[in-house]
Amino acid sequence: MARGPARLQFRVQLRFVTEEQLFGPGPLSPPTPQSLRLDVHPAGEEADATVTDADGVCVFKCLLNRDTECCRVGKESILITLGYNSALLKFESHADLSSFSNTLKRCRNEKKELSVFNQRTEEASAVQYFQFYGCISQQQNMMQDFVRTATYHRAILQNHIDFRDKIVLDVGCGSGILSFFAVQAGARRVYAVEASSVAQYAEMLVKNNHLSDKIIVLPGKIEDISLPEAVDVIISEPMGYMLFNERMLESYLHSKKWLKANGMMFPTFGDIHLAPFSDEQLYMEHYSRANFWYQQCFYGVNLSSLRGAAVDEYFRQPIVDTFDIRILMARTVKYTVNFMDAEEADLHRVEIPFVFQMMQSGLVHGLAFWFDVAFVGSLVTVWLSTAPTEPLTHWYQVRCLLHTPLFAKEGETLSGRVLFVANRRQSYDIQIVALVNQTGFRSGNILDLKNPFFRFA
Ligand code: SAH
Repeated sequence: MARGPARLQFRVQLRFVTEEQLFGPGPLSPPTPQSLRLDVHPAGEEADATVTDADGVCVFKCLLNRDTECCRVGKESILITLGYNSALLKFESHADLSSFSNTLKRCRNEKKELSVFNQRTEEASAVQYFQFYGCISQQQNMMQDFVRTATYHRAILQNHIDFRDKIVLDVGCGSGILSFFAVQAGARRVYAVEASSVAQYAEMLVKNNHLSDKIIVLPGKIEDISLPEAVDVIISEPMGYMLFNERMLESYLHSKKWLKANGMMFPTFGDIHLAPFSDEQLYMEHYSRANFWYQQCFYGVNLSSLRGAAVDEYFRQPIVDTFDIRILMARTVKYTVNFMDAEEADLHRVEIPFVFQMMQSGLVHGLAFWFDVAFVGSLVTVWLSTAPTEPLTHWYQVRCLLHTPLFAKEGETLSGRVLFVANRRQSYDIQIVALVNQTGFRSGNILDLKNPFFRFA
């Protein structure tokens, strides 16, 4: 989305065919030698395809766009028709053919309406999202999260038998780092799918590390691209704030259409944890921010009619930061998403009921959230935790305030539910309702996960 297709180069054989040749009794014209070079240069939504011979002489050229007429022939060939003549291009491998036809599909705009991704995403959200991940600095930020990257490395390398000689799919490969780990663990081939323009940098790293025979970077969305074969293992890092933000878990689940029947998912499942917390200062801070709008004479203007709207807006923001675990007032409630079993639609609406046994008395200001994911390999299970008891990660923890705090005593129960409803901005609307069973005190809130408040220092 952020950019057109990356520039691609292939080795091909070329044969020009006419209808008469195909159906007439005479022989077909001979194919050109294998050593022709096909270059695909993106130009906006379209692309130029040029075939040159060993002397650099152009022998075939066409524009790839929505009017391009083409079809696949057999396993490695594609037929492009211009007017009454057709050019049959034979690639060196099915993987090359897939890569070329993914570009072709994009230029033909085939997936615009059909794609699962496009159907569930506003265009503006997707553009901004993939522009963000197209930045080298953002990829670096994730790579430098030592807990994250080292845990993935360990999970993959310690379960090397699950990768040895296996076909792997890396969903949203970014820089390609996880694909490299899979190769280090012995993978035979890795398909590295990436929708943002960072795909071209992943390709550079693959080439420069001399792994072009093992890692095949496929630019495009996992929902749109096609792979030349089914895979044994899917690896991905699809977790957002509060686990669900970005809705990339759905893309991860979507990718199972390429997984062999007994294939593995890395990570295998995710647990989201929630617990009530008490933090008077945080609560007051939100009010104080809104109190700006209480002023009746801001450069002579009365702002106070917007104070209510300001409070509402601030309270809709989940707070991203970390905290001392002593603010937690009960043991956590856990909700598991098993990536082996779950389907995309299971994440459109996620309802988490809770009953907390209060372990201390005081004011409950909201619910704190974090998640863990587990890599269940044949040799070891490795956990990546973003809990407040563990070293901090770039996911921090997330807290949702209640509109009004709830008083509860030790031994009482706080029950209710958190409802996550997916929206077209690659995020969720969060509804919380909570009740102290013994007193009947109720509170709740509605929050917008797309617009969090980053509070960490
Ligand atoms: N795997 C890398 C990057 C993880 S960030 C690493 O671990 O460092 C997630 C990446 O997935 C981003 O680069 C983002 O652009 C990509 N992505 C998100 N949704 C995608 C989709 N539907 N298809 C392909 N790539 C996607």
